[in-house]
Amino acid sequence: MLECAAVSRWFGGLQALKGIDLHIHRGEIFGLVGPNGSGKTTLVNAITGFYPPQQGEIRYRGERISGLKPHRIARKGVARTFQNVALFRGLSVLDNILLGRHLFMRPSILGAAFYWWWAEREEVAHRVRVEEVIDLLQLESVRDEPVDVIPLGMQKRVELARALCAEPGFLVLDEPMAGMNQEEKEYMVRFILDARDAMGTTMLLIEHHMDVVTAICNRAVVLNNGEKIAEGPTREAINDPTVVAAYIGR
Ligand code: ADP
Repeated sequence: MLECAAVSRWFGGLQALKGIDLHIHRGEIFGLVGPNGSGKTTLVNAITGFYPPQQGEIRYRGERISGLKPHRIARKGVARTFQNVALFRGLSVLDNILLGRHLFMRPSILGAAFYWWWAEREEVAHRVRVEEVIDLLQLESVRDEPVDVIPLGMQKRVELARALCAEPGFLVLDEPMAGMNQEEKEYMVRFILDARDAMGTTMLLIEHHMDVVTAICNRAVVLNNGEKIAEGPTREAINDPTVVAAYIGR
């Protein structure tokens, strides 16, 4: 589904990614872990086109996406959520989710004018998908509430809902449990797994909580100083002696 081949990126004299190779399979939830400053965000920014790799190549469904502008990559079905909640304040939960869908699937104005029946059919499809996702992530009770007034754990869930509504083929989740209490984390683990099962979305999960990575991800990669230091079935990868040393040594 997503491949990185020898991906490298520099910031001035600092090499933030050193020839990263990755293969993420369809329907997999793949963990991306590593100490602060190890290159996780840089890798995500390379995949989503914000900081394209200066060497190497990234392919999505076999097609080269490195070098494309971020909006083109997004339109191909590569979506992300952000570490800090990035919702439209003042708008309701429902409008935030709908906007996520419209921003990616907006029909052209000309098309909508000539083919109104098509636009209407699209609108119905939007609504159906939005309702499915609201149901899946159990947001029914807050759908009309302004996003600002609901708890942080739920705001994170709205962000996930907004990303899922665009029906991405590949979704990057950037620390979806940040700031959550234990109960909220357990809910989120369930929702992510349910979303993958219901929609078949392939995901890349950046996460600091190792219990969460072990619970959700079948495989994981560990970065340190821009290098891949371990990769494989999650439990084996995160318990690798090199990984333990990298965390203790920082
Ligand atoms: P992580 O997400 O694992 O915490 P990052 O990818 O944010 O790590 O950072 C990797 C390295 O690249 C760090 O040394 C960081 O300071 C550097 N870096 C990241 N983004 C930039 C940038 N825009 N300009 C300069 N240096 C950067």
